[in-house]
Amino acid sequence: MTQRSSAESSARVAVITGGASGIGRAIALELAGQGFEIVLLNRNQQAADEVRREIETVGGHAVGIACDVSDEASVRQAFDQITRCDVLVNSAGTMSQLSFEDVPRDEFQRLISVNLLGVMTCCQCALPLMRDGGRIINISSRAALGGKGISHYGATKAAVNALTRSMAAELLDRGITVNAILPGFIDTPLSRSALNDEQFEAFAAKQPLGRAGRPDDVAWAVAFLASPRAGFVTGECILVDGGKSLPA
Ligand code: NAP
Repeated sequence: MTQRSSAESSARVAVITGGASGIGRAIALELAGQGFEIVLLNRNQQAADEVRREIETVGGHAVGIACDVSDEASVRQAFDQITRCDVLVNSAGTMSQLSFEDVPRDEFQRLISVNLLGVMTCCQCALPLMRDGGRIINISSRAALGGKGISHYGATKAAVNALTRSMAAELLDRGITVNAILPGFIDTPLSRSALNDEQFEAFAAKQPLGRAGRPDDVAWAVAFLASPRAGFVTGECILVDGGKSLPA
């Protein structure tokens, strides 16, 4: 999967951005369990190494590469170390909660750099390493549908959905599928950091299923899209939100 190890293995390789935490970590563990070799691209190399060790403990193979997806040079440097990519999962992401009138331009720009330009750059770097029939899965958000306090975050995710559909159209002739998953409220360090414990539990109880989603709920949907059985599914933006979008 990397220049050092590619000669030793012919296993399929899944590159996962933001794979050291929350949803990305669950995806890394799930795909490792299915026999993928995992490349974790994360800003925090130490956190990536911890997940790498977790994967190795259960008999899987992984490498962690330090990478800031908002920095084009950093992404190119990371992909220079990768020789094969069968599946790319863009899970690295960031958010903040602010009412629209209070969103500073540089905060909007920060979210665009990570959530949108990060996805674009990783896709551009992964495609030359991807054989026909490859898979790209973007972790978007239900916030793309709109909501209070998340105008800037939701706008970046709506743009990811548009990017997903256009990329899917352009890559049809290579049989590379491009899909987005739109998680609802998922219990991760990101959502925990946005709310105190009391607010978190209250918000979770208000979800249609009476609980927050688990990172595995998203990882299992990703595993389907990464599988050979999903070759006819492309350009889709799939809600994984525990019924939040159903009429009450
Ligand atoms: P998380 O636990 O905070 O994980 C995010 C990961 O992304 C972290 O490992 C973080 O690494 C990494 N990351 C952030 N900025 C990065 C950058 N510039 N370059 C490389 N890595 C970076 O959050 P999560 O909840 O799992 O979120 C994963 C994805 O799901 C995000 O795209 C998020 O928008 C989306 N999502 C989450 C929810 C939810 O309720 N949790 C709902 C809908 C969508 P560092 O620690 O090094 O920053």
